[in-house]
Amino acid sequence: MNRRSLRSRLTLLVTVAVAVAIAVCAGACWLIVADNLNRQVNRSLLAEGPKPPRRDDLAICSATGDNPPPGEGLRPFLPPIQLVYADGRRCVLGRDAVVLTPADMAIAAGGGRTVRDGVTDEGEAVRVKVEQVAPGVAVMQSRSLEEMYATLTTLAWILLGVSAVGVVGAASAGLLISRTALRPVGRLTEAVEHIAQTEDLATRIPVSGTDEIARLSTSFNAMTAALAGSRDRQRRLIADAGHELRTPLTSLRTNIELLLRSEDTGRALRPEAKRRLLADVKAQFEELSALVGDLLQLSRPEEDHEPGEEIAFHEVVRAAVARARLRAPGVTVEEDLAAWYATAHAASLERAVVNLLDNAVKFSPRGGTVEVRLRAGRLTVRDHGPGVPPEDLPYVFDRFWRSPAARSLPGSGLGLAIVAQAVRDAGGEVGVDNAPGGGACAWITLPGSPAPSS
Ligand code: ADP
Repeated sequence: MNRRSLRSRLTLLVTVAVAVAIAVCAGACWLIVADNLNRQVNRSLLAEGPKPPRRDDLAICSATGDNPPPGEGLRPFLPPIQLVYADGRRCVLGRDAVVLTPADMAIAAGGGRTVRDGVTDEGEAVRVKVEQVAPGVAVMQSRSLEEMYATLTTLAWILLGVSAVGVVGAASAGLLISRTALRPVGRLTEAVEHIAQTEDLATRIPVSGTDEIARLSTSFNAMTAALAGSRDRQRRLIADAGHELRTPLTSLRTNIELLLRSEDTGRALRPEAKRRLLADVKAQFEELSALVGDLLQLSRPEEDHEPGEEIAFHEVVRAAVARARLRAPGVTVEEDLAAWYATAHAASLERAVVNLLDNAVKFSPRGGTVEVRLRAGRLTVRDHGPGVPPEDLPYVFDRFWRSPAARSLPGSGLGLAIVAQAVRDAGGEVGVDNAPGGGACAWITLPGSPAPSS
């Protein structure tokens, strides 16, 4: 069944459904008509009422015994009627003599009335009414059923013919319906196959109407657009990462070439120049490993981005401030932290706060102050540096984005992207604004409570 095409399955389904419906209707129709005809025969038999045999009939019967001859030529025109005696004799008074059963004799003997199916002496099917009319005598009246059977047979043939025509019609309609219904599916399949073959994610499936196929096409278009976007972002990330890695690698190579050349030519560098070169090499290595670390952090698989356990956010911030203070002796970092408990990964959150503090310190003037404040789950890191130009605000969280003014400062442009990812994983929000009195104010809000939950 599964190997058949969808079209033939649909056609078969429609045909079978219509055929079953027609069969049920035809069957019901035949049964109702048969029941009605049966009732009609019974009604007409019962409506007739028992015909008490006339005295001369009885006389004839008792005179002639079983089969009296009531003038042979007249018999076919008489009503189908006969008498039955308790001892099993019968006296046929009209046409169509009916074969007796023990039940008829029982009625003749014991009384009562019944309507049953029977046969005539000639084998014709009849419906018989047997009714006691005098002690030991019952009257049997019959109706031929041949006509009714003939009507029912004709009806059955007519219904069969109509059903056959209906099934053929249903099969053709099914074929037509499945062709029309599956045409858009065919178009969709072609488009999907084209995309699968060419990997051309820019292909869009034309959408018309609002039916299921249109919805499927719209969803498919949305999916390819999302896939194309993700592929573009991935390409850009690789290109940007390559570009960012090239700068420290180029200066590293230059410095190492200088050192090698002095070795090769035997012209020794002055000790302080050599030391400066080596210090540069070390700094470039550090920059490289920081960049690689940032990239690894950002490319963690999605399943690692789950919320962690309950942590004391104020403690995380305090630890980050202590680290920032060590790295920025020229800048004062003031902290004002109210307790806040949130669900997050402590290490990635600390790294996020350190990134914010590093930026604040980096952009602070010498001897400046950075104010770190935590109130009701909202952390603000405010510096007194140049702030972020308003036109740059939408980009600061983009990977590798750095303002033109910040290009000369250390950094890769990944710091805030890492912050955004860590805060998003913890279910919080993050932003950078310009503070009213000048300087930038970065903030993080985390869902949680001022007291631990357990
Ligand atoms: P980087 O590693 O270069 O600091 P970030 O992602 O942390 O990268 O920051 C991106 C850019 O946002 C920075 O290059 C800078 O232009 C801007 N920025 C971030 N923090 C501040 C701040 N406190 N003051 C001014 N500009 C900032």
